[in-house]
Amino acid sequence: MIYDVVIVGAGFSAIAVTCNLIQQLPPTASIAVIGDDPGFGRGTAYRTELHLHRLNVPAGRMSLHPDQPSDFVDWLKSRNVPLQEGDFASRGDYGLYVRDTLARLLRRKNERCRVDFIKAKASGCFEQTSRTLIFDLNNGDQIGARNVVLCLGVGNANLPVDIAGLSSAVRSRVVENPWRLSWMNRVRPEDSVCILGSGLTMIDQVLALRAHGHRGHIDVLSRRGLAPLGHVRTPPPAAQFDIGALPTRLSELLKVLRARSRTVTDWRAVMDGLRPVTQQLWQRLPTEERRRFLRHVLPWWNVHRHRVAPDVYAQFEALLSEGTVRVRAGFLGAIEADGKRLKLAYRKRGSQAAEQVSADWLINCTGMERAGISHSPLLEEMRRQTLIEADPLRLGISVDDRSRVVSKKLNEEIGAYVVGALSAGQFWEITAVPDIRVQAKKVATELAARISSS
Ligand SMILES: Cc1cc2nc3c(=O)[nH]c(=O)nc-3n(C[C@H](O)[C@H](O)[C@H](O)COP(=O)(O)OP(=O)(O)OC[C@H]3O[C@@H](n4cnc5c(N)ncnc54)[C@H](O)[C@@H]3O)c2cc1C
Repeated sequence: MIYDVVIVGAGFSAIAVTCNLIQQLPPTASIAVIGDDPGFGRGTAYRTELHLHRLNVPAGRMSLHPDQPSDFVDWLKSRNVPLQEGDFASRGDYGLYVRDTLARLLRRKNERCRVDFIKAKASGCFEQTSRTLIFDLNNGDQIGARNVVLCLGVGNANLPVDIAGLSSAVRSRVVENPWRLSWMNRVRPEDSVCILGSGLTMIDQVLALRAHGHRGHIDVLSRRGLAPLGHVRTPPPAAQFDIGALPTRLSELLKVLRARSRTVTDWRAVMDGLRPVTQQLWQRLPTEERRRFLRHVLPWWNVHRHRVAPDVYAQFEALLSEGTVRVRAGFLGAIEADGKRLKLAYRKRGSQAAEQVSADWLINCTGMERAGISHSPLLEEMRRQTLIEADPLRLGISVDDRSRVVSKKLNEEIGAYVVGALSAGQFWEITAVPDIRVQAKKVATELAARISSS
């Protein structure tokens, strides 16, 4: 079958585009959503069932619809979850909200377009005619698309060292994908754990371990040893920025922002003031300055920008100060067996000294990998066929400022768009709901106009 729109992916981005399309397309139109994620519609982020895995954005900014800001808070209230706009809901509840929102729209059977959910992975893609793309699915089927929205997210990072030489017994103590929480059942309360990576995923896993009854020591190793900072219960008023007056050289821009931080009571005011204008700021930076940002500023940006809920931070900080969790800065060199345990050799940051950590378990929390196109066989195949190209910074797919795929081959007749983190080369700030929901709505509106005029 040939659909008016094929959406590839089954996480938040895909569902946000689907909801917007259902609201805007005529009943004669058709959509297919392709995805094989077990938590269809929730992705890695919102599939968790642990209540302590909290959103890192206040509930008042997590509505799926940018023009109905209280939608998520109202949904929580309807479920007797008495949270306010500034509170941090559980990510599991958010996943249910997203699915519920979609389900409500799907129930309007006679008023809406056709929507088919296809439980499969798209494995290949080719242009059949100048007006149709064909997707090969891993279940052997093929489906056609007059328009396509790529919502594949970014892949999870692999371990930076090879563990193929370890015996299977020792290898089983390396958890490469921490999102399958069943690994925690094998950890004894007194076991020592080493976590690789010190971002949001690390904090999630530390708190989940504690909730599981783990009381042993936890070493955290990352290249810079920087862990996320916390939100405050009463956020300071966001600083205002005149984007046109900000420098476009990174070093000068940082100077201005540091100076501004000294004039406010809390640095969060500056980060919160930058948030609504970050996309514009990014688009004004020349490519070389963007490259510099990724090389030198990114780890600091991440810990200041992607903060955790205040009480989550307080729990983590208590574990740090009592010495249960220790964060080290260094570069992992090798993982060896130490009897039944693991020995991790690393080079301490800022020195040539070789150090080591011994642990019963190693958990890979290096998080989302901005591996661009290369994490996906489908995207690699599309690139080989010149249907898409990588953006200059290799963050994802090259798109224009309307999220349309930039391609020398794709005919104008086919609408091809990217929603979510794979469009970071153009927008940078496009990994969280408050930005993705706006992009999803714009893309759906453009597609609806295309379809009604064709
Ligand atoms: C642990 C965690 C916590 C987070 N917390 C927050 C938060 O509190 N607030 C916030 O705003 N943001 C948060 N984020 C950011 C989050 O990434 C976004 O909010 C959002 O979930 C991104 O959704 P997505 O659909 O773009 O990507 P994903 O959720 O990664 O979904 C991509 C989907 O594409 C599918 N897919 C990939 N390849 C194919 C293929 N070839 N064929 C078919 N399907 C394919 C995958 O299986 C997956 O289902 C968090 C992220 C993580 C990882």
